[in-house]
Amino acid sequence: MTPISCPQCGGLSAYRIRPDGLFGCPECGDLLDRRDIDLDGSDVWGVDDDGTLCIVTDPGHSLECLMQAVEEYLTADECPNAEYARRSAIRSIREFLGDYAEARRIGIQKPEIGYTREKVSVAMNEGADMILGEISLGEPEEDAINLVVNAAMTRLENPCATFEEMAAEQYSESADEIRSWWGWS
Ligand SMILES: [Zn+2]
Repeated sequence: MTPISCPQCGGLSAYRIRPDGLFGCPECGDLLDRRDIDLDGSDVWGVDDDGTLCIVTDPGHSLECLMQAVEEYLTADECPNAEYARRSAIRSIREFLGDYAEARRIGIQKPEIGYTREKVSVAMNEGADMILGEISLGEPEEDAINLVVNAAMTRLENPCATFEEMAAEQYSESADEIRSWWGWS
């Protein structure tokens, strides 16, 4: 965790959060807006317990590095100097775990692992919209495509859901009514 110091008065004082949401230097009173905080790639800013503005590593980045270090530990035997590789991996694991915990401690959000329901839903619906926008289909085909989107979203959370259960969850019509839309079944 690195405090962000005020460049206006010698770089010794770190900015502190103020009640109005701006950050101020306790030495010279210089103000810093959150939009003007300049960060490198994997850095994010946060506010420590005592109100100090500081830079920490993005917990998503720390987690990726941590997972990689664990793999290095597990494959240390393949290295010419296995003992050295193991120690080096353990050092990295401690460091990245520390970075992760530090960012979480000051309230930086947990990274999302894998796809969220929200992301899958957006992708499914955008996929349907792409096809419906590019190919001139009739209403029955549109209904069928939307049915697939809804069925996939139901199965995402309930892998054993039946057609009837999907219909009850996603539609105001009954399963039999939906079947009758096409007259094929
Ligand atoms: Zn200052």
